[in-house]
Amino acid sequence: MSLKCPFCQSAEIVVIEMNQQSSTALAQVVSPATLGALGATVAKSFNLPPLVGGVAGTVIGGLINAVTEQPTLPQQSLCYCQSCTQKFPSSLLHAG
Ligand SMILES: [Zn+2]
Repeated sequence: MSLKCPFCQSAEIVVIEMNQQSSTALAQVVSPATLGALGATVAKSFNLPPLVGGVAGTVIGGLINAVTEQPTLPQQSLCYCQSCTQKFPSSLLHAG
């Protein structure tokens, strides 16, 4: 198979390994505890019991974690075109 940029058809392609830690970092930012505290703050501003906001935030955090922690993409590599400086997933290489 030939590596060609889908944007400019150049062969100056460099394959970059995707960093799997990005999803872990995201999960740490939107931890259930953080969203629980955020939900309690929002509930207070809407004159709702803090418990309601805390529960809502925790549920939302759990949903987000369920999405972010799913290993749906098994180590997809990223490609970088040195000619037009575009970045694209390696799966695009097979499309054209
Ligand atoms: Zn290109």
